[in-house]
Amino acid sequence: VKKPGQAISKGHKNYDLMLNLQLGIRYTVGKHASILCELKPGDFDPKEKFWTRFPPEGSKSTPPHQSVDFRWKDYCPVVFRHLRELFAIDPADYMLAICGNDTLREMSSPGKSGSFFYLTQDDRFIIKTVKKSEVKVLIKMLPCYYQHVCQYKNSLVTKFFGVHCVKPAGGQKTRFIVMGNLFYSEYRIHKRFDLKGSSHGRITYKPEKEIDETTTLKDLDLNFVFRLEQSWFQELMWQIGRDCEFLEAEGIMDYSLLIGLHFRDDYAIDETKMSPLDLRSGKTSMHHDEMFIQGMKWIPIGRGPLIRLGANMPGRAERVSKFGLDQQTGSASSNSTPSKSSGETLDVILYFGIIDILQDYDISKKLEHAYKSFQVDPSSISAVDPKLYSKRFRDFIHRIFVEDK
Ligand code: ATP
Ligand code: CA
Ligand code: CA
Repeated sequence: VKKPGQAISKGHKNYDLMLNLQLGIRYTVGKHASILCELKPGDFDPKEKFWTRFPPEGSKSTPPHQSVDFRWKDYCPVVFRHLRELFAIDPADYMLAICGNDTLREMSSPGKSGSFFYLTQDDRFIIKTVKKSEVKVLIKMLPCYYQHVCQYKNSLVTKFFGVHCVKPAGGQKTRFIVMGNLFYSEYRIHKRFDLKGSSHGRITYKPEKEIDETTTLKDLDLNFVFRLEQSWFQELMWQIGRDCEFLEAEGIMDYSLLIGLHFRDDYAIDETKMSPLDLRSGKTSMHHDEMFIQGMKWIPIGRGPLIRLGANMPGRAERVSKFGLDQQTGSASSNSTPSKSSGETLDVILYFGIIDILQDYDISKKLEHAYKSFQVDPSSISAVDPKLYSKRFRDFIHRIFVEDK
């Protein structure tokens, strides 16, 4: 299977950046590998940042390397060490995935923001370059973020594992975050949607033949409603409520619910390639009755609970000709029912999480709102104040998920 993205090998314009990032992470994780002391309020201090110089010839604390002379900055490293622990990321796995011999892969810039995305070879982690303002937002929200993810083990907000900065001698600073890849799984993701609950511009501008499994579709492309078992539905809605409250309190907007769909019918086809013996003995990871995904036990529909929210969840996707967002008026809330169900229902495994949570309603977003308001219905614009944003987001989610009674 060909992996998406371009390998960053020698000669790639970001090759040095990748080497620096790998050296830096190895240093940081190594340094904070030992005993976890209790977190102190001081560990959250925005001034808790440390510069380390990496001269090519090496230094007392850094190894010699083949790259340019650079400096490396860690933001609140002790807090992130605790977060990795909380999210059950083993330090050795983490280091190996990012700093092992395999190169990272650069995803062709998926967002509009100009951020770069790098994926580890094992697909587990995503590294995203971010703006200075986004680092500021993250460091500012860190105490509440920490508290939130401790309190709600099933929170859907992005799992952050580290924030760093690289500054090559004489070059520009590059700031980045390391986070979990929501779609890390042994299942193939057949479709992905990035949903905000707004409609203006929320469609994929691409010729049909260029759209494939790796294309991130948007609100106006959505042609499914998702039917979930009652208890999961309720838990999901409840958790999204808590997560939105948190984001709203932090003044965040412009986030998305990222949904990945694995169609289980396709999976059934794959399965015919296995001998019945394999299926019964459970030797393969494709065993039908139960399997482990991300270390969690998963039991298919009808066999009772089991899955941690935020990871994956069985459900049914009902195909509708178009979801109830009206592109012309952008009225997400008035036109609430999905149009014309085709009656087709597919068994799916859903993956989801809330991503891109580092944008506050700053002057640029306020201007964007004011400017676009002259052209279209203000409620259809992505840029609205955090309170409105959260309400519209939740309303939308309540319409695309339905309870299976
Ligand atoms: P913009 O601000 O223009 O929306 P951005 O550059 O801030 O874009 P994001 O919204 O963070 O980028 O992400 C863009 C796309 O990258 C998402 O739609 C999704 O397809 C993918 N992506 C981002 N974060 C993750 C993640 N944690 N797991 C899997 N995919 C992700
Ligand atoms: Ca986004
Ligand atoms: Ca963004």
